[in-house]
Formats: sequence, structure tokens, C-alpha cells
Amino acid sequence: MDLGLGGKIALVAAASRGLGRAVAEELAREGAHLVICARGADALRETAAAIRAETGVKVAEVVADLSDPSGVARVTECALADFGRVDILVTNSGGPPAGPFESHSAQAWQAAVQQNLHSVVELSRAVLPGMKERRWGRIINVTSIAVKQPVDGLILSNSVRAAVTGFARTLANEVATFGITVNNVMPGYTRTQRVEDLAQRNASLHGSTPDAERAKWEGQIPMARLGEPAEFAAMVAFLASERASYTTGASIPVDGGWIRSLL
Ligand code: NAD
Repeated sequence: MDLGLGGKIALVAAASRGLGRAVAEELAREGAHLVICARGADALRETAAAIRAETGVKVAEVVADLSDPSGVARVTECALADFGRVDILVTNSGGPPAGPFESHSAQAWQAAVQQNLHSVVELSRAVLPGMKERRWGRIINVTSIAVKQPVDGLILSNSVRAAVTGFARTLANEVATFGITVNNVMPGYTRTQRVEDLAQRNASLHGSTPDAERAKWEGQIPMARLGEPAEFAAMVAFLASERASYTTGASIPVDGGWIRSLL
């Protein structure tokens, strides 16, 4: 299947490792040029160099903290300065901290909203005028299976992802006639540093081991294994493609069957 991504400009947020990096790699293999960001300059530089070497596409890297509005603004300013447009926006960021309700201060809530909702809104605001003008665009938000079934111990993530989903569903309706689609992809338990950290945390809480915690998750997943970042990235690449032109406002799981609801 030709995804029609050759020469498109894709901004992938939070892409120095994990799901964001896998998405950037997949889009680059399909011929899209990239703008990627993350907080750590060294990891970002290494990722950009590896993608250029493998695929030959142009990769602009922007060191930016997505929990800081000026960082978010810098990412889109650099993208527009370097490439003049953004065709595909993939919003992503680090996950908010785990812990029960009592463990999170008002500031922690504010930080989660800033990092995981506000960054999505502001990245979208910056790229939409150009997409509308060109009458083509793809916005894909990385959310979580927690949108369909909240995950115990992740109250910040569960709450803020729901807000992103409401934003995306409404925006999808507003921009649909401009040839712009807005979708969310919901990762299940996928083998990244974030999930490794959660396994370590749960192991200390339960007096067990990270292996035992991973085995508990695997026991809940019909495919009986964690996902690989590349499996997640393949879905994002399809939604970013020309071929996904009639899918909008959707939240699509990539979870090995973890969500057991009918719809
Ligand atoms: P990860 O921790 O492995 O990678 C996160 C990436 O985001 C890194 O590149 C990091 O440098 C960057 N980043 C973190 N905070 C940032 C900030 N403030 N500004 C800019 N960049 C920042 O995480 P991941 O597993 O790839 O997860 C990506 C997103 O998907 C997270 O929001 C996570 O909660 C969500 N998610 C992941 C899973 C999973 O199983 N991996 C499941 C559900 C949801």
C-alpha cells in the first residue's frame, strides 16, 4: 500500500525515545521529512542522526520542554521556519507521574494539564491555519487505553487523556471539510522506558519484581505480551497517510486486545 507520505512534513513531539521515536522512524521510512523535539539535547541529536542515516530524510531537531508554553511555541516556530509548513502533527509527551489522588498537589495537576493537554491544544493551534489553507492535514494524538478504561494508580493520566479526547473529537468536526483529520491512537502496555519505570514502581509498591509486574499485565492482555513501539507506530503512519482520508474523530487502540468492550 502506498501511504503517500513521501515529501510530507511531519512534526512528531517528544520523539527522542519510546513511542514518539518509533513514530518518527516509521514516518521517515515512508519518506516524510521530520521535526522532532524532546527535552534532552543529546538523546534528541542521537535520534535525529540515526533517522537521517537510515532514511536520508531531513530531520530538524528542537530542544524543548512541552510543559512550558514557550517550549511548545519554539517547536512550531522552528518547524515553520525550517520547512514552511507542517502537514502531519503527532502530539505526544512524557506521561504524568503515577500515584493516588492524595499524592498529587494542585501544582502537579496544573503541570499534567500543561504537559498533556495544553501542549496538544497549542501545537494544533499553530499548525491548523496552514493545513486549512492547503486543505490537507493530519493531527494524531497519542493518548492511552486509559481513555476507554482508566488504569488504577494513574489518576492524572486518566483525567487529562479524557480532556484531550474531548478536544480532538470536537476539533475533528470543526475542520473536517478542510480535508483535515483529527484522530487519537491509544497505546496499551508497550515496551518503552515509561512502562519499565511503571513496572519498577509497582514492584516497590507490591514488594515484588518488575518481571512479576510485567507478567501481571501480560495476564490481562489477550495476546499475552507487551506491544512493541513499531506496532504502535504503524497505526499512526496509516492515520497520517493519504489512504486514511475518511477516518476522523476516532480513538483507535493498539493494545493486543486489552480493552475488552464491544466498541
Ligand atoms: P517514554 O518515557 O519512553 O518517552 C517519552 C518521550 O517524551 C521521551 O522522548 C522524552 O524525552 C519525551 N518527553 C518527556 N517529557 C517531555 C516534555 N515535558 N517535553 C518534551 N519532551 C518530553 O514514554 P512512552 O512510553 O514513549 O510514552 C509516550 C506517551 O504515551 C506518554 O504520554 C505515555 O504516558 C503514553 N502512554 C504510553 C504507554 C506505554 O505503554 N508505553 C501506554 C499508554 C500511554
